[in-house]
Amino acid sequence: MRLVDTHCHLNFGDAFPDVSLTLDRARANGVDRVIVIGCDTETSKIAVELSKEFDGVYAVVGWHPNYAANYSRSELGLIEAMLSHKKVVGIGEIGLDYHWDYATIEQQRACTSDHLQLAISAGVPVVFHCREAYSDLLDWIERLPIAPEKMVLHCFGGDAMHASRATELGIYFGVDGPVTYKKNDSLRLVLASVPSERLMLETDAPYLSPEPYRGKPNEPAMVSVINARLAEVLGISVSECAELTTSNAEQFFGV
Ligand SMILES: [Zn+2]
Ligand SMILES: [Zn+2]
Repeated sequence: MRLVDTHCHLNFGDAFPDVSLTLDRARANGVDRVIVIGCDTETSKIAVELSKEFDGVYAVVGWHPNYAANYSRSELGLIEAMLSHKKVVGIGEIGLDYHWDYATIEQQRACTSDHLQLAISAGVPVVFHCREAYSDLLDWIERLPIAPEKMVLHCFGGDAMHASRATELGIYFGVDGPVTYKKNDSLRLVLASVPSERLMLETDAPYLSPEPYRGKPNEPAMVSVINARLAEVLGISVSECAELTTSNAEQFFGV
């Protein structure tokens, strides 16, 4: 079984003091590739460094909407320069977050808009972070004169209507710990209804540990737990689900 963690933050050094050991545990659980996502220039830089240092590690670079208050356009050139590294496979995580108010909506939109233009001109995939903002983000994408060719809503948590609008737009869905939570029948129902060739696994580690590990720090090895639960949701075997989601991730990110 080969699994891909398409979204984790091994670049958060406090949470992952020994990346080599973390990757060993991931491989022991079938997770042979991980994609590390930036939240600002510094964490993007670390993601790129990790991708150079370790086999099977790739990077996605950009500014998270919660960091957008510190973003200025001069940062975009630094992000753009990182795209020249072979193992940088996308722009993210960018988007809208109405749950927290670390940055105003205007700051989030300006930051995300700059990154979107960069992704479109560079022709690279986009990883969206969206929290309590699905309608506005989907409205925005629907109105883009040219949309990025590949987009994923990481840690998808929208409802059936959001899922169907995203499906129309060709968007992929990131599935992580919340699919295992007891109360999340509605999310499982939505995920079972979207095209299965659009589903990718992720941990968002160190956050969002799956059941029965909630409250403990998350890590890429846990993709195997998420895969097992998604297999049940889709009514397929664990190995079929691994094959499906891994091939989706390979196709989307080119890893
Ligand atoms: Zn996120
Ligand atoms: Zn994240």
